[in-house]
Amino acid sequence: MALIVQKYGGTSVAEVERIRNVARKVGAMRDKGNDMVIVLSAMSGETDRLLRLAHQIAPNPSEREMDVMMATGEQVSVALLAIALQSMGYRACSYLGHQVKILTDRSFTKARIKEIDREKILQDLKKGYVVIVAGFQGVDKENNITTLGRGGSDTSAVAIAAALEADVCEVYTDVDGIYTTDPNICSNARKREKISYDEMLEMASLGAKVLQIRSVGLAKKFNVPLCVKSTFIEGTGTVVTREDMIMEKVLVAGITYDTKEAKITIKSVPDVPGVAARIFEPLSNANIVVDMIIQNASVDGKADVTFTIPKADYRKAMEIVRRVGREMDALDVQGDENIAKVSIVGTGMRDHPGVAAQMFSTLGNEGINIMMISTSEIKISCVIEDKYTELAVRVLHDVFGLAEPSAQGST
Ligand code: ADP
Ligand code: ASP
Ligand code: MG
Repeated sequence: MALIVQKYGGTSVAEVERIRNVARKVGAMRDKGNDMVIVLSAMSGETDRLLRLAHQIAPNPSEREMDVMMATGEQVSVALLAIALQSMGYRACSYLGHQVKILTDRSFTKARIKEIDREKILQDLKKGYVVIVAGFQGVDKENNITTLGRGGSDTSAVAIAAALEADVCEVYTDVDGIYTTDPNICSNARKREKISYDEMLEMASLGAKVLQIRSVGLAKKFNVPLCVKSTFIEGTGTVVTREDMIMEKVLVAGITYDTKEAKITIKSVPDVPGVAARIFEPLSNANIVVDMIIQNASVDGKADVTFTIPKADYRKAMEIVRRVGREMDALDVQGDENIAKVSIVGTGMRDHPGVAAQMFSTLGNEGINIMMISTSEIKISCVIEDKYTELAVRVLHDVFGLAEPSAQGST
């Protein structure tokens, strides 16, 4: 008997029959005597539908109100699962974030969990209830509803597992584990049995949406045993664990892509101390996260600065940078939303020079121009035109030998 936290994503609860399927899976584990805490996403497509509604009314809706609205998606799915379990004879009870309570900071639409009150959940478990908690949402200390950023139910699940010191946190989704790259765009992607927290952190931060990055960070910090499995096919899934628990040593663990960033260039700004701060401080004050930054060599004391930001913040960022540009007499501010960041990730790259060169020549041979590059010990990222995303992922996947042995070269 164990305390198990399970999270089911949007496709797993997309319709009534799938909710029944989840109820049967949860019920079977409960029958074995396990304590079950279930975290759910909204039904697939629901969060996007809600977002579209708000944007039909206003181009820049208030983030506080967006959270009030977006949190409703999960309210429906948790209640439906409780009803399904009750109709099968189980004791089950659903809770929203503020009822648990999941306390967050005030950063609407991307709030961070600060504390989880475990008492109510533990009391219910003791009485034999399956406890169902709405993912993606929390409440700040003034009782405002907050949400945790897209894909945030993963983070709710891991945070709850950490708070309860659960034996395992299982994330159920529409693929049967974590692959060397997105199996939906590369048919010969290979499932990993295990992946390290650090590799998964890097893959998540670079676009592999199978786990939200904050969920992996929390799992690493609190040593939560984390596992990704399919809701629809039985299997062992992929275990996310400490690096020293992994026997299989690989050079490149995976290839990721991210089409959710945009690029902004501010042209011909004075190349003097303090300029970077004048550009990036107002962006940071507006809660806009800047990712890659490059500054070209200065000509006549002037330089161009290019950086990437989330596409969702593009309009807001362009307004800010245009204002800063005018104040600094910049020549121009140019934006480009048609970009993608393709990355290779692997802790094995630490001791192997030459991986970057191989990545660049592989893209070059395909005629793919690299607009920006960033590297760390365990990843190399290139910004390219977004129309080449899938091609870039496939050729890199092949060149680094990540395909299933039987499928290699047959992309
Ligand atoms: P859920 O709604 O269950 O949270 P998501 O759509 O957020 O599911 O995440 C699952 C998706 O992540 C998969 O359908 C797949 O397309 C995508 N994905 C991206 N990279 C990977 C990867 N390396 N391994 C597995 N899935 C990946
Ligand atoms: N429903 C939210 C989203 O679509 C949270 C989640 O699915 O994890 O982003
Ligand atoms: Mg998800």
